[in-house]
Amino acid sequence: MARKLYIETYGCQMNVADSQLIAGSLHDVGYVTTDTPADADVILVNTCAIRENAETRVWGRLADLAREKRARPWVTLGLVGCMAQHLRDKIQARAPEVDLVVGPDAYRRLGDILLQDRDEPFVDVRLDKHERYEGLDPRSDNGLTAFVTVMRGCDKFCTFCIVPFVRGRERSLSLDEVLRSVRALVDDGVREVTLLGQTVNAWRDGEHDFADLLRAVDTIPGLRRIRFTSPHPAPVDDRLVAAMAECDKVMPSLHLPLQAASDAVLERMSRGYTYGDYLRRVERLRAAIPGLALTTDLIVGFPGETEAQFACTLAAVDEVQWDSAFMFQYSPRSGTKAYEWADDVPAGEKARRLQAVIERQEAVSAERNRDAVGRVFEVMTEGTAKRGGGWYGRTPQFKNTVYQCELAPAMGEMVPVRVTSCTAHTLLGEAVVPVGAAG
Ligand code: SF4
Repeated sequence: MARKLYIETYGCQMNVADSQLIAGSLHDVGYVTTDTPADADVILVNTCAIRENAETRVWGRLADLAREKRARPWVTLGLVGCMAQHLRDKIQARAPEVDLVVGPDAYRRLGDILLQDRDEPFVDVRLDKHERYEGLDPRSDNGLTAFVTVMRGCDKFCTFCIVPFVRGRERSLSLDEVLRSVRALVDDGVREVTLLGQTVNAWRDGEHDFADLLRAVDTIPGLRRIRFTSPHPAPVDDRLVAAMAECDKVMPSLHLPLQAASDAVLERMSRGYTYGDYLRRVERLRAAIPGLALTTDLIVGFPGETEAQFACTLAAVDEVQWDSAFMFQYSPRSGTKAYEWADDVPAGEKARRLQAVIERQEAVSAERNRDAVGRVFEVMTEGTAKRGGGWYGRTPQFKNTVYQCELAPAMGEMVPVRVTSCTAHTLLGEAVVPVGAAG
């Protein structure tokens, strides 16, 4: 009988993509996936180390899963991903039930590792500057959309960020390998791919840059939509803007992390751009790509952030008018440059700043969604709506949309939907042509 694999994923889309990669590679050696840990022979927790509260959640979850392991001692319990890399020395003391600790560059070996009999926990957290996972194709969770990790690692070393330490240096798949992987997904029915990388626009293969990659993926027959995340703002140049504007399948949505709007804070973060540089890129993008939706990441309470510097970030929410934002309070990560500095914004003050920026952004997000009311968007249908009936999908701008129609659409069907109302996070509407005629 096939062995059963349960994977629980924390953190960013790179981790979601890595879980799909792990599931794909273990599927090839006879595993099937299950949705319940109580049913699994192998339980893997794919972890995130980027913020302290992400790690705290994983410790709590490991305590639950350790009970599962004590009840069924033959089960393999593994910790994989960034936290495995970051806290390798502490895991065995704090979670002795864990059998495997495997970093992000050792997933290819997991099938072999799981075959070995062991009396001691197994640890493999070697970073491998050559591992790009060529030839391992991700599995799409819904059959329609898929992630393709085109580059891994990061060379930017922002002072708050642990990624270069847990994911290693930048390395890219070749253009031919990306095209092969996307074509394989399209042959399996996938209609939308998201090209992923820690700094995805740092993708290079010696001859081509990221703009070339977008143009090449755009030519793949049968593929309907291309997205990518996350680009670093500094290298967003005219070649990339032109490729986004000219490639029909590249969707008009972009996650462009600002982090903070004070130039002094940006410099301490070592981000490599000023707020003015960021605004100029936004202007160029919006001029070239009509209807572009922009999202961002913001950190408040970075070491040394004064009230006036925080006010710059708050003002940027009004000025840039992002469609949405991921907002966080700074938490020190051991190993980073900023970890050596005094974490001098008090916890209560960080919480107040976070609440203020969330409230301001929520108001802007709601306003941006209200602008969509009365307009028609092509929605790719991805399933039934969880609440209130109807169908669920996303606009080209990546907005969650729930729509009503008389006949059931096919999954993946592109349906023109007129938006009739909205919340801060969802558009609500109705199909404007008979479903089935939409293509
Ligand atoms: S660009 Fe900066 S924030 Fe982004 S992954 Fe690299 S070091 Fe981290």
